[in-house]
Formats: sequence, structure tokens, C-alpha cells
Amino acid sequence: MTRHLPHARRRPHVPARPSFRCCVCGAPWPCSPARLNLLHAYRKDRIGLRIYLAAQLTRALQDRPDLDPGHLAARIVYWVPRTPPRRP
Ligand SMILES: [Zn+2]
Repeated sequence: MTRHLPHARRRPHVPARPSFRCCVCGAPWPCSPARLNLLHAYRKDRIGLRIYLAAQLTRALQDRPDLDPGHLAARIVYWVPRTPPRRP
């Protein structure tokens, strides 16, 4: 019998390796929930988010040599919105 774990429904949407699909929903990582969570977690550190994603891209490039590197970079790193320009 499976015990009910309160946190089970809130498992983090992290990449499974070597597939680089989401551990929870199975979508190509970062899935929509992962992107929302990352934007929230790094809301005051956009550069830190890009560094984290670049590290994930490095792993994905190692794990998935079958995928186009440009597409992987677009999927994993270049979805982050640009920081809005500062107002004078
Ligand atoms: Zn997911």
C-alpha cells in the first residue's frame, strides 16, 4: 500500500537524465511548470538563472548528442525573457 505523502504532489519538475525530459510530467525539460518555478526562484537573479540553465545545457549536450545543439540551447537557455530596460 502506498502511503500518502503530502509533498508527493509537489515534486520538483527537474530533468531526468539522460532523457532530459521532466521527471514529473515527461515533457521536454524545462517544461512550463519548471519555467514558472525557475522564473520565480530566480526573480531577483536573472544572471544566476542563466548560469544555472547553462550548466543544465552542458549536461544535456553530454546526455543527448543525438539532438541538435542549437535546438537544445534554445529550449534550455534562450526562453528566459530579457530583463526589461531600466527606467531613467
Ligand atoms: Zn514538468
